[in-house]
Amino acid sequence: MKISDILAQRQSFSYEIFPPKGDMSVEQAEQVATALCENHPDWISVTFSAGGSGNSERTADIGRRIERGVGTTALAHLTCLGSSRSDVDAYVRRLQSAGIENVLALRGDHAPGREAIDFTYASDLVPYLKESGLCVGGACYPEGHVECEDLDQDLEHLKIKVESGVDFLVTQLFFDNEDFYRFRERCDRKRIKVPIVCGIMPFTSIRQLQRMTFNCGASIPARVVKRLVAAGDDPIDQAAAGIRYAQEQIVDLANNGVDGIHIYSMNRPEIGAAMHDALVGCGYLPA
Ligand code: FAD
Repeated sequence: MKISDILAQRQSFSYEIFPPKGDMSVEQAEQVATALCENHPDWISVTFSAGGSGNSERTADIGRRIERGVGTTALAHLTCLGSSRSDVDAYVRRLQSAGIENVLALRGDHAPGREAIDFTYASDLVPYLKESGLCVGGACYPEGHVECEDLDQDLEHLKIKVESGVDFLVTQLFFDNEDFYRFRERCDRKRIKVPIVCGIMPFTSIRQLQRMTFNCGASIPARVVKRLVAAGDDPIDQAAAGIRYAQEQIVDLANNGVDGIHIYSMNRPEIGAAMHDALVGCGYLPA
């Protein structure tokens, strides 16, 4: 099913997983997706070589298993730096033969050997993908993209991307919902009218939180730091504090009428289940 059709009907609930690397097999990744699907997400997204992990080959395979094996809508990510039109054509053919109708069009991060070939920005990729009849999402950044210091300019670039044909947006992770509400208002003023799905990452340790925020430039509010200080050195208490914080965050988003909530699950079904339960508790999702 096209995600644009889902978002036209209801506020969504979805998960992100990343394809296997190292010892994890495609079958194990399918097990993760199957376990997440016990919570009936509207879709599961699959990352594409995120962080330079080199696992982009598996994205379409995992997407196929989500669509065909698990029976849930898949959203396949695609980054375009370093890709030619023929690379993208080959990827689109793989998606279509796997029955995948949704793609998240991304530029990707700059890295040695990953220079622009046929696409410089995600807004160059979006119209190219739309020609294939796919439903195309794009990324957005409530606190601004890490390379762009001027929020207004970043929003101007976002408007170009949306006008190039984006059907929906998914946000970068954020920890302060006020950042998102301000961003939503600014989008509204700029007449950026596509649905904006909130991407939320439950943190499970201080180190993980530091790594995530350093990579993407998201800020850590003082109340998150206070929760972690209260949790002390115990890894179990730190994880519980992170899960609790994310539950409160998504309940507040649900109560503020967001278009959708997307959980960066880190391939951990128990985290996905904890987020689902919080949203059932507040009436956002059916019991
Ligand atoms: P763009 O929209 O192209 O923007 C990139 C930068 O260029 C911004 O600073 C923007 O302001 C600027 N810009 C845009 N258009 C113009 C223009 N016309 N002129 C001048 N400047 C312009 N990475 C992965 O490798 N794999 C993944 O699977 C993945 N999944 C992600 C999922 C989500 C929901 C998000 C939010 C990010 C994801 N990323 C992933 C990270 C993403 O690739 C990086 O954030 C990347 O640096 C930017 O990608 P983008 O598509 O937002 O780029």
